Amino acid sequence: MDKAHELLKKHWGFDSFRDPQAAIINAVTAGNDTFVLLPTGAGKSLCYQIPALMTDGVCLVVSPLIALMEDQAKSLEDKGIKALVLSSKLNRHDTIIAFDNLMHGNYKFLYLSPEKLQSEFIQEKISQLSLNLIAIDEAHCISQWGHDFRSAYLKIPVLNDIHPDIPKIALTATATAHVKNDIIENLQLTSAKIFTGSYYRDNLYIRILKKEDTRLGILNLLKSIDDPAIVYVGTRKNTVQYARFLSSHQIKATHYHGGLDNKQKSEALQQWKDEKSKVMVATNAFGMGIDKSNVRMVIHAHLPNSIENYMQEIGRAGRDGKPSVTYLLYNDNSILESELVLKKSIVSPELCRSVYGKLNDYYQIANGELSEEIFNFDLQEFALRYDFQFMQVYYALNHLHNEDIIFYDQNPNKTSRIRIIENSTKLFQVQSLQNIQAKVLQMLLRTYGGVHEQFIAINESLISSKLNHPKDEVIKALRRLDLDKVLVYNESSNRLKLKFLVPREDNFVYHMFRANITQRNKTKEAKSKSLHHLIKNDQICRQIQLLHYFGENLDSPCGHCDVCLSRIPAEKVDYQELSAQIFNLLKKNKTLNLNEVNQLLPNDKGSLVKTLQLMVERKLIGLNLQNKFYIIT
Ligand code: ADP
Ligand code: MG
Repeated sequence: MDKAHELLKKHWGFDSFRDPQAAIINAVTAGNDTFVLLPTGAGKSLCYQIPALMTDGVCLVVSPLIALMEDQAKSLEDKGIKALVLSSKLNRHDTIIAFDNLMHGNYKFLYLSPEKLQSEFIQEKISQLSLNLIAIDEAHCISQWGHDFRSAYLKIPVLNDIHPDIPKIALTATATAHVKNDIIENLQLTSAKIFTGSYYRDNLYIRILKKEDTRLGILNLLKSIDDPAIVYVGTRKNTVQYARFLSSHQIKATHYHGGLDNKQKSEALQQWKDEKSKVMVATNAFGMGIDKSNVRMVIHAHLPNSIENYMQEIGRAGRDGKPSVTYLLYNDNSILESELVLKKSIVSPELCRSVYGKLNDYYQIANGELSEEIFNFDLQEFALRYDFQFMQVYYALNHLHNEDIIFYDQNPNKTSRIRIIENSTKLFQVQSLQNIQAKVLQMLLRTYGGVHEQFIAINESLISSKLNHPKDEVIKALRRLDLDKVLVYNESSNRLKLKFLVPREDNFVYHMFRANITQRNKTKEAKSKSLHHLIKNDQICRQIQLLHYFGENLDSPCGHCDVCLSRIPAEKVDYQELSAQIFNLLKKNKTLNLNEVNQLLPNDKGSLVKTLQLMVERKLIGLNLQNKFYIIT
């Protein structure tokens, strides 16, 4: 076994590489620059992680999202590999310690944002590191045409000056031809080895259909299969409503969205993975890290945000290569609705400037000043005070956050949680105290099981009413117990955490973000248009349209999307002859899918499709939802 396989087995527990992981790893370890364009879930991370483990030194990973970095680092740590994330949350002192660890602490990976890379201090520190590889993840962020353009990505080549001889690897899942060229040019990867996988998944049977009653449509589709399915809906509320609706019709469904806490998320995921629930009803927050191979149906009850999103979402079906169906159900309303949502989400740079200015006023920050404080931010109150619309502030903050002008944590904890850290003898002494703290503690021990082992959600109002004590005193007692290190009290809040990352300089900051925000708004509009175009265009094979969007050509229509099934003119097909042959085949084989029929009858696929379709229409044969034809008896 070679070293790469050994590491794969040792740390990941996998026996073999997927195509083309091994080839990429070889190219990287041979010292080449590489460009990797593979669909989400293909396993791109391994392509830089394994080479990094094969040589001494630290692998520097540039990544756009802190959550993504933390995810990756944690997953490496779980495998016994040391990885460090350099986030904006670290102050200078922490950063110095972090770099000391990198130099002396056997760390193999350093994750950081492209913005961090702009700091001369960080550059200086990086120049002292002994690197073995530079990985640029989500490299499409470098392109104005990418769906997540980040201006700071354009400055990544600064690494060429600091470490000119270290190989680079750029990775992305969604790159149109335009984006690909931007990446190669901007990162100076002209002599890189290029690895691109095709987006074509011929086992996906794409159906984009107009349906007036979506709920009923979904119910009928799901009734016809026993295998796992995903239903994507537009809002968090919808996930609950649809799951309830399906369950009330004997289809076991669970729901998932970004607002659930981690425990709820992993429970929902587990239930679906174990197939205790057939259907997962989710928002597009359901995505990262889901690699269930036997999903047979993905339904969109609402329009996805873009073709990129759509590809990723339908791509979760049929990972095992077996035929799987995807449905996008829409009506005139859904397109109007999506246009409306888009309109609301487009916030002009001028409005961002105004929100930014007021934000500084709100915290009484003077010109040129940078506050180090992390503020609690009440969006509602802020919007009311300055007469902004709530959603506008929300999107403006998003922009400012993306531009690294502010940092804000969008997911405040909705419920309080506690965990008791003292051992029981000590607790006993505390319990003998006759005060409110002791009473609260006793109540916690009595009411909530398992508080020693893990964080448990508590309800202060409930404790208050049980103890017949005012709620704010209960909260004070909990805070005190936290201070005394008897327990950890994670207090709930509806407030966002907000921190300023650059000194207040209204005009200067405006000029920093104006072009980017304008561009981002434009891209957003263009993307939505492309998606609507795909939906409305029922004249060209769906797969051809999709691949075209990503700059790929498909030689012939897929033969099993809704367009293909409806397009081939009947008169071109020798129906009698073929249908008799098909009928005989099905008699012998019971059930066959299109490809299997095609293997046995090497006619052109189009004629087969049309004949099969006519036979279905004439009720000679049926099509089950595994996409297999059978004789109706
Ligand atoms: P990408 O970055 O391309 O979206 P990831 O690197 O996050 O994909 O990997 C997706 C999933 O595939 C992960 O769960 C990973 O563990 C799994 N995976 C990657 N390579 C292999 C392999 N050779 N065998 C089995 N699973 C793999
Ligand atoms: Mg990835």
